[in-house]
Formats: sequence, structure tokens, C-alpha cells
Amino acid sequence: MTTWTEIRCCGCRRLLFKMTAGALAGAVSIKCPRCASFNHLRPESPHPQRPDRAGKDASCGSLFPRKT
Ligand SMILES: [Zn+2]
Repeated sequence: MTTWTEIRCCGCRRLLFKMTAGALAGAVSIKCPRCASFNHLRPESPHPQRPDRAGKDASCGSLFPRKT
């Protein structure tokens, strides 16, 4: 059974792409074509930085500081 994880933009929730568990071997940075937010993704956080935030929404990773 293939379980797809939908990766959505942290800024506008646009669907960026789908992937299966283990598809990421390293970090990925993707710029949302809609709102231009950078979405920084990491494979299953081997180094949890915020254990209190770990959960189903972990796919959002972190955003780069916004430039204005
Ligand atoms: Zn967006």
C-alpha cells in the first residue's frame, strides 16, 4: 500500500506535490508559485528541534525569513 503525503504551502495551503514516505533523502526547499513562500522540508526530522510541535503537520518544516 502506498501512502501519499500531500505537501502543501505553509503560506496559502496550495498543494505543492505529493510524496511517499522515505522519498526525501535530504532537505528540500520549494518556492510556492502562488504566494512565493519558501517551504523548507526535511525528511522525518532525525533531529527534532521542536518536539512540542511534532505531529501530523510536521510536513511544513520551516519557512525562511520573509523578505520585504
Ligand atoms: Zn503559497
